[in-house]
Amino acid sequence: MATKRRRVLLLHTGGTLGMRPREKDHALAPDELDAALLEHVPELERLADVETRVLCNLDSTDLTPTHWMALARTIAESMERYDGFVVTHGTDTMPFTASALSYVLKNLPKPVILTGSQRPLADVRSDARANLVGAVDLALRDVTEVGIYFGGKLLRGNRTTKTSSFAFGAFDSPGFPPLAELGTGFRRLAPSLVPQGAFRLEGAFDPAVVALRLLPGQPAQPLELLADCGVRAVVLQAFGTGNIPVEDDRIARAIEALAGAGVVVAIVCPSLHGQVDLDAYAGGRRARAAGAVGAGDMTLEACATKLMYLIGSGASPEEIRQRLPVPLAGEITP
Ligand code: ASP
Repeated sequence: MATKRRRVLLLHTGGTLGMRPREKDHALAPDELDAALLEHVPELERLADVETRVLCNLDSTDLTPTHWMALARTIAESMERYDGFVVTHGTDTMPFTASALSYVLKNLPKPVILTGSQRPLADVRSDARANLVGAVDLALRDVTEVGIYFGGKLLRGNRTTKTSSFAFGAFDSPGFPPLAELGTGFRRLAPSLVPQGAFRLEGAFDPAVVALRLLPGQPAQPLELLADCGVRAVVLQAFGTGNIPVEDDRIARAIEALAGAGVVVAIVCPSLHGQVDLDAYAGGRRARAAGAVGAGDMTLEACATKLMYLIGSGASPEEIRQRLPVPLAGEITP
């Protein structure tokens, strides 16, 4: 009796993988591409029946929460019909999309693997082929979460950040071990999330969030102005473990003004390795007293998309402050 072929849905969103140099200036731009190019990686068919759908064909810098929701909806509607999902995506904003998907695809029962490449599929020395084949392989395994597969490593999507625009290993998840690696075989390194109930698509994103990096001696006024321009939350990359200046109180007062206007200020850690601890230094305590909330060991990507998700779900500023440190999908260490 013939065994049933397993099925993978490959959703293309764009990125370098499908790009070619433009004639006028040789800059890489999305090519007229199609499902065919992806289908021309014949090895994929040896792994599973791979159905390709081009959702959009954009540099990932042009993707927005609207695209995240379209992806999430397509995956949710197709959940029953496939064994796993692969999303091809530009590397520049891949961790944002992965984080966003992890929040709205609740109790994911099957793998959703994002991948892409540093060099186009059409290049002789491209990493696209290996990444694609690896992602499809992983989409058929027991990975019940949103992952990013790149350069041999499968990372938890909402713990990932882009660490290189040169190396074929473009990503890292500094605060969480890789979930698995593909070498001569498959090696699991950390357990996947375990679904806690029935799968469902739930939530939406409100993009009224901005991110700022604090600089020594910077003016406070640009921060204050955010109280009055429709922004609902600010991700502030402060110093060290979440510190702001204490000798000069202007930044603290700007945070107070924002908090008073109902704008949530979430502090993320500027180091790749580390986490926010608003008790450790006087500067952290001042930030908290001013109304800021610490984002623990969340990446900036995970924190910003979580704020968009919480705002999009109708939470009040106080509810957002309370819910930000509570894990939704393994994005923060409790
Ligand atoms: N600019 C490209 C993008 O994010 C980079 C890449 O795909 O690696 O779409």
